[in-house]
Order: sequence, then structure tokens, then C-alpha cells
Amino acid sequence: MLNYSVDGDGIATIEFDYPGKSQNILNAGSMGAYADTMRKALADPAVKGIVVASAKKDFIAGGDLGEMAGCTDAASFHASINEWHGLMRAIELGGKPVAAALNGTTLGGGLEVALSCHHRVAADNPKARFGFPEVTLGLLPGAGGTQRTPRLTGMQAAAPLLMEGKRIKAAEALKMGLIHAVVPVGEERQAARKWVAEAIASGVKPLQPWDQKGFRIPGGGPGTPNGMQMLMAANAMLREKTYDNYPAPRHILSCVYEGLSTNLDTGLAIESRYFTNLVMSPVSKNMIRSLFFGMNEANKLASRPAGVPPQKYTKIGMLGAGMMGAGIAMSTAAAGIDIVLLDTSADAAAKGKAYAAKQWAKQVARGRMAQEAMDALLARIHPTADYADLKGCELVIEAVFEKREIKADVTKKTEAVIGADAIFASNTSTLPITGLAEASVRPANFIGLHFFSPAEKMPLVEIIVGKATSDATLARSMDYVRAIGKTPIVVNDSRGFYTSRVFGTYVSEGMALLEEGVAPALIDKAGLMAGMPVGPLALADEVSIELVHKIAQQTRADLGTAYVERAADRVAAKMVADLGRLGRKSGAGFYDYPADGQQHATKRLWPGLAEKFPVKTEQPALEEIIERLILVQSVETARCLEEKVLRAPIDADVGAILGWGYPPFRGGPIGWLHTLGLAAAVAALDRLTAKHGPRFAAPAMLRDMAARGERFYPA
Ligand code: NAD
Repeated sequence: MLNYSVDGDGIATIEFDYPGKSQNILNAGSMGAYADTMRKALADPAVKGIVVASAKKDFIAGGDLGEMAGCTDAASFHASINEWHGLMRAIELGGKPVAAALNGTTLGGGLEVALSCHHRVAADNPKARFGFPEVTLGLLPGAGGTQRTPRLTGMQAAAPLLMEGKRIKAAEALKMGLIHAVVPVGEERQAARKWVAEAIASGVKPLQPWDQKGFRIPGGGPGTPNGMQMLMAANAMLREKTYDNYPAPRHILSCVYEGLSTNLDTGLAIESRYFTNLVMSPVSKNMIRSLFFGMNEANKLASRPAGVPPQKYTKIGMLGAGMMGAGIAMSTAAAGIDIVLLDTSADAAAKGKAYAAKQWAKQVARGRMAQEAMDALLARIHPTADYADLKGCELVIEAVFEKREIKADVTKKTEAVIGADAIFASNTSTLPITGLAEASVRPANFIGLHFFSPAEKMPLVEIIVGKATSDATLARSMDYVRAIGKTPIVVNDSRGFYTSRVFGTYVSEGMALLEEGVAPALIDKAGLMAGMPVGPLALADEVSIELVHKIAQQTRADLGTAYVERAADRVAAKMVADLGRLGRKSGAGFYDYPADGQQHATKRLWPGLAEKFPVKTEQPALEEIIERLILVQSVETARCLEEKVLRAPIDADVGAILGWGYPPFRGGPIGWLHTLGLAAAVAALDRLTAKHGPRFAAPAMLRDMAARGERFYPA
């Protein structure tokens, strides 16, 4: 766990060396070992000074999230944090100089270990990053980070580190005053040791700045005009951005405000309470589960069928050089894979490549990409109208028009050229994969790879397994998704698959509220306050009300008498067929879009809405609207689980967050049911069903789980 040695000059070295892991992490075991070793060194009269170092290539990666996610006993957690604070104060006030040698990345609790040393030397390692990622998982730096950082750097400079989880390089950390020196790689220990030796020789008791007489917070504390102004602005900005859905940044601000109004020891006591509160909160548990463990598992392809050799990709075909095709081509080229971009004419194919060139040129202009790198990327995209060019592709993805006949036609033409082992994938958003596979002579090699728009940016790919799709095809498709750096979730074939189906319920519920006479501004504001990135009506405009209308018509045609009309279908029909308001692309939807540039900032709710959908005098409470917009997604997701469209709850949660920006603080649509507790969730759904109809009806699986006291997740 730790290596300990004392040299002839009485300088001890404590070296973090977590067994069996490539990184050092802090948990009960490693922290306990550090505390014991450090206390031994502080008490040993033969030890005059101490160097803290790492045996790994980085210093410390941070705290053990698994341990924190599973923690349910607030009192014992609080006590253990206070013990840790006690150790850090013993180091600071122990009279022996202690220096940290930071050889690489130093994050979270690792940076806090370093900050409790009197002196910090970092290697000039270009890969090394310093910062506090805690806030991104609903936590705060709870080992003194909120107290020591602003006391070293000033509140203003500390804010992006503490409240946004910004990671910085050694040079910036030095400039901010977070560390004392940057030395060539490999010399950091020697430099730390030299400082310790000199401090011993000077005979002066080493003290942190805050323990010295006359200490002042750089830039002024919370009580100064400067400090007050900064805190007020930070508070307002936070509210505007998060609608107060995220307790972590709010608690961090409180720690800074309250903690810096007093001395360090009281500040640490304040921080440990806020920290304990966050560790126990469902928000941090939700965020750790979905954003950390769930996403890691998905990226590691945990659900990849076993026994299929990994597939390397060198050449991929893309049918359709439209919006999606061009984006997918960009992601593929960026992964170092050659891509044949085919459209109906050479000109149309070239347009797709030109889109890629335009996007990358923006990055070159901003200094984010070198011109040569852009040229190399473009050289990998081969526009064509000739199917013969697809020869040798290991995988071909189609993103042509959403029409069965066209998709069948391109499938046949492609399969005539590509190898028997190659995979054919469809990026359809609505057409069932099993049906599309009927056009294929090798349905076992046919699969759905559903990208999101803009495909070059959006991180999720929903992989759809058709009836005949083989495990090998699934496994090899997952290899492709990983190769282009995106996160896959695997779902079974069904109308709308998973993401479009559930995301659609949010938009539809917004339209149902409109039909009921709820004020449109209230509906969209409630969506934002629920934590969704865009209100449901604004979102309908973005995806186009026309598309909502078309899907409704198609579903009606497909289902016949089994079709149940929804409020959203009536609203979409009225908007599109009667009023000709198709959504943002036509400059007119629920909102009016000014012709010039169609900026988000300048759109306005269409004043005519009030006449077409009269607003009731009595409006529902905001919480009621939020509950509907959120639970309508959860109940549909639960149905997807019951129908086995989804294979695991965590896929639902990861897919929702990455696919349509579902608010991470709720964990995901299933994470939210888990947070409410299943019995309470079923009761809420029963209440909503009685009032608004069967779209809220709890599926039997959920009811049974609630009755049996079961849960979706352990914590
Ligand atoms: P698009 O209209 O921008 O592009 C379609 C392209 O396919 C056009 O360039 C067209 O010329 C080309 N094409 C049409 N017929 C062809 C043929 N026979 N052979 C070769 N090329 C042909 O459409 P898009 O938005 O890129 O959507 C493409 C597919 O992706 C559709 O199936 C759509 O449902 C799906 N999709 C779209 C989105 C989205 O947000 N736009 C998201 C996920 C999936």
C-alpha cells in the first residue's frame, strides 16, 4: 500500500503504491495506511523531515468512488473525515517540514494530500493534470480542498477548479500558487528532498500560510467588497445554470463563504458537514452510478458477447452523405479509419466531405487543430457515387432517406460488392431493424447503429439487435463504436427502439399540457427546471413538429385499429396541417424564429398560440408539471425493460443522459424511480393515471418489484 524509508539525514519518504492497480486511489485502506505511517514519522525523533511521493506514473487519481457510493452511515463517515482532517492538521503543525513530489496527475483527494504538505514540487510532465473532479459527480473536495485552495489562490481563481471540476497543467498550477515549483521530469523527488533538507537546516518551524501571523486571503475574503461581489455573482450564475438541482456546487460555495469567514479549523469542520451531506445524498449516488460506473462499463463493452475475436477496422463505407452520413464519416476518419462516402451523385457525396472540411476548418481557425491534421483527416474520406468503391469495407452504414424501399435498394447494391463477412448497419431512427433486414441476403450480419445528431459530436450510439442479428455481428459492431470513441448501449428491436421512444414521451407530454390549456412559457420553463436541456415545446420545434406529425401518421397506418390517438398527435396535426408551422426549420413552430441566423437567443413564443390553444385561468403547480414531464419518461423506460427492449436498467440511464441530455442528478429515468423508491413511484403513477390516463400506468413488472420490496440498484 505504502513504501516507507528513512535515509541517513533523517528524511523519511512515504511512497503511495496501491497494490494491484495502475493508479493510486484513496480509500479506507490506503488512507488508514497513510495516517499510520505519517503519524509514525511525525512521532519518530529520528525523522527530521518527510517527502510524500508515488511509486506509480501518476501521484494519486482521487478517492475510491465505489466506497463512497456504498456509504450509508453518515455519522461514521463524518467521524472518519474529521480524523483525516486531524491528520492533515498534525502534518501542518507538527514542526517537521513535509514536501510532496508530484510526478504526474494529482486529482481530488490526491491534490488535497499534497495541499496539506508545506511544499509541493511537480514534474514538468505534459500529461499531468491537477484539479478536483468531485463536483462532476455530485461531491465536493472534502479533505480540505474547499478551504486550502482559495486560501492559497484566492476565491476567484479557485472557483473553476472547485465548482466546475476544471483540470489544469503544472504550469498553471504554479502560476496560481497551488504548487511551489515545476522541475524536469524525474527530478521532483530530489527537489522536494532538497527543500526539506534546507528547511531542516534553517531551524525555522515550517508553517502553512494560513497558520502564519498576519495571513490574508489573496484577493480578499468573503467579507471584503471584492469577495462579496464575487460570491454574489457566483451564486446568481449557479442558479441560472442549474436551477438549484445540483447541491454540490451550492455546498462548495457555502464552504467557501462560511469557511473563509473563519479560521481554517472551523472551516474544515464546516466542510466535513457539507461533504457528508453530499456523500449521503441520492444525487451523488445517482451521478456516480450512471456517469462513472455505468459509462465506464459501457465504454469497456462489458455486455459484449464473449468468444468473438476483436475486430480491427481499416475501411468503412457510408451510404448517404447528408447530415448524419457526413457526421459519422467525421467520427470515423478521426479514429484513423478510411471511409468511403457514397451518395447518389459525385456532387452529393462531395457535399458531405465539404461539410466535414467546414467543421474541421473552424477548429483550425480556433487553434484547436493543426492544418496538417485536418488535411490528414480529409484524406481519409473518399467521396463517390460508385458502389464498386465499397469493396473491402469491413462495415457499411447506411444513412440514406428514411424510406424502406430506398434502404432496401442500397442494402442489395452494397451486399453485391462487400465481402460475405462484412457487416451492414442501418442508422434508421424509426424503422424496425428486423423488417429492414428482409432486404438482406445475410440478415445475421445486419444490425442497427443509431447515431444522434450532430453525429460528429454526440457521444452515444444505440445498437439495435434484429431478430436474425448474430452475436458476432453485435460484438464486432461494438468494437467499431469503441474504435470511434463513442459509448454504445445495446437494445432489442422495437418501434422507436429505446431512445426515440422515451425521448418522444417528453415532447408529447409537453404538447398534451399545451392542449390542456397550460401556458406555453410555463411548460417550457418547467422542462428546464426539471433539469432537461431544452423545454418540450422548443424541442418539438428543433426536431420539427412535422416529424412528430409524420411519425404519428406512420404509426397510425402501421397499427390500424390498435392505434390510440394522443394529444400530441392532435396538436402536431393542427400545427402542421392547419397552421403550416413545421418547427424551427421553417422559421415557425411553437416559437417564431427571426429570419436572420435563427439564433436561440432571439426566438419568441408564437403569440398566436394563445388563440389556438387557449390558456386556462387556473394553472397547475410547477411541481405537478415537472412530475409529469419526468415520470412520463420513467414509466415508458420501465415498459422498455419489461418488454426486454432494454437489457439492463443501467443501459437506460446511460443512454438517456448521453442520448438526449436527461438530467444526471436524477440518475436516469430508472435511476429516478430508484431515487423515489419503487413503492412511492408506483403510488405517484397511480395518481397520475387516475388524473391523466393510461400513459402513466405502472407496468406490472414495476408494481411487482415494489410489492416485493425490490430495487433496481443496490445503492
Ligand atoms: P439527409 O436528408 O440529410 O441525408 C440523406 C442523404 O442520403 C442525402 O445526401 C441523400 O442524397 C442520400 N441518399 C438518398 N437516397 C440515396 C441512395 N439511394 N443512395 C445513396 N444516397 C442516397 O438525412 P439525415 O438526417 O442524414 O438522415 C439519414 C438517416 O439517418 C435517416 O434514416 C434518418 O432517419 C436517420 N437519422 C437521422 C437523425 C437526425 O437527427 N437527422 C438521427 C438519427 C438517425
